[in-house]
Amino acid sequence: MSLALSAEELLERCQDEPVAEAEVASLRGLVSFFTGAYARAVATAEDSIRLSDTTEDLDLRIYVRRAALLVHGNLSVNDLERRLEELHQLSFASDNVWEQAVTLNDIAAQRESVGDPVGARTAIEQALELAQGISPNRFALAVILSTRADISLRDGNPAAALRDAERSLALLSESEHPNPYVLGASVRAQVAAKMALHEYDDARATAERALAQIGDRLPRTRSMILATVAEALREAGWLAEAYDTLARSAALEREALAGIAELQFSLERATLEARLARSENEALALKNLELAAAHAELESRTRQLEDLERQLRDQAERDWLTGVHNRRFLARALEGHEDGHVDQLLSVAVLDLDHFKLINDRYGHSVGDRVLVRAAELLCSVLRVSDTVIRSGGEEFLVLMPEAEDEAARLCCERMRDVIRGECWDTIAPGLELTISIGVATADSPEDLSSLLRLADDRLYKAKNAGRDCVIAR
Ligand code: GH3
Ligand code: MG
Ligand code: MG
Repeated sequence: MSLALSAEELLERCQDEPVAEAEVASLRGLVSFFTGAYARAVATAEDSIRLSDTTEDLDLRIYVRRAALLVHGNLSVNDLERRLEELHQLSFASDNVWEQAVTLNDIAAQRESVGDPVGARTAIEQALELAQGISPNRFALAVILSTRADISLRDGNPAAALRDAERSLALLSESEHPNPYVLGASVRAQVAAKMALHEYDDARATAERALAQIGDRLPRTRSMILATVAEALREAGWLAEAYDTLARSAALEREALAGIAELQFSLERATLEARLARSENEALALKNLELAAAHAELESRTRQLEDLERQLRDQAERDWLTGVHNRRFLARALEGHEDGHVDQLLSVAVLDLDHFKLINDRYGHSVGDRVLVRAAELLCSVLRVSDTVIRSGGEEFLVLMPEAEDEAARLCCERMRDVIRGECWDTIAPGLELTISIGVATADSPEDLSSLLRLADDRLYKAKNAGRDCVIAR
């Protein structure tokens, strides 16, 4: 039962596996039947047939029909004959003689049960012929002989019935776990035959031996055997004995029913548990999905926040007027240098606009502002991307030039000076002219950054004293 449920669970994860689906449905039909869930057994058996017919697999189509027949035959559904005919055609379309023999046996049993002894006899002899032609065939032979024993009993030939029943039992006993249904049917035929032959004591002893052999298992089979004995005793006129035997049979029947109810209950419970586990899994999968979505959302928000933080920090470290970096940036850049020491080649330039106060005075403060903005733009335009412009004060700038040797740094300062004085400042204010003075210093061995800045500042002072519009590099 639990294997069938696991198989169903696995199947739910597959798609388009009609062969496996048919086999599992077939198994489930049998499990349902043996646990007494008859409605489910019929429905699942039908499913298995329908699924098998969607495949080209002839063996499978026969197999699921054989299993379904056990359900339908025991429940005496009214289209049994049609089903048997179908199985007959399929069996003979295949080369499987075993299937053909067992199908003929089933046809014989059905004909016998509807009172067609001639038809039954024909079918069972055909079955026997086929089964004797194949090997190993113990089970098929045992089944067929058991059926033929029943037919012979009906025909009023108990001696032949007894022979067949005993041959069937001998074949079954060669197996460690004989099929209980066939065993029960053969014992019953054996007992009935002995009763019909007036071997009453022997018949009852045989029945008791069989009951003892079956033990506690299979109350249904035991009840069937006892009912046979009771019937024979009644016919022989041994009424008291018949009644006792029938009472024992009824007690076993009740035991069988209780057992079936218990099985049915555990089947229902197992089904419910499986369904519950499935829905728990689904709920868990759903939660996982939600969690993953929330996680992705969180990640994207975190990224947005990080971007915003970067933007804000960048804004805080830039000069509001010119857009170049400010002193706050410089302070942080200095933090990056251990003990304020430069451990790489670095040149630093300090720039100051010449006579800027005059521009303000002459053209007004807002023109002064526009000059500052344009000057910063021009400085950036002649620098490398690795260089940094910082507005360190009113009209004073600092330029950091990593990896620039003294001569390269000096030439760069000359470029800055050129671009400022070469600019056509007329567009901002007619007659406006601008020059800058620069002091530059280079650290080629580990050096204190603030003393480097001081050195550049001293050189700027020298540039101013030298008449402005020049670069002092030593
Ligand atoms: P020098 O050549 O010696 O540097 O002369 P200078 O006039 O440039 O130097 P000084 O330090 O005397 O004057 C600097 C002027 O820069 C004074 C101040 O009004 C002006 N200034 C400082 N910050 C700003 C600003 O943000 N916008 C404007 N328009 N002017 C500013
Ligand atoms: Mg100044
Ligand atoms: Mg100045």
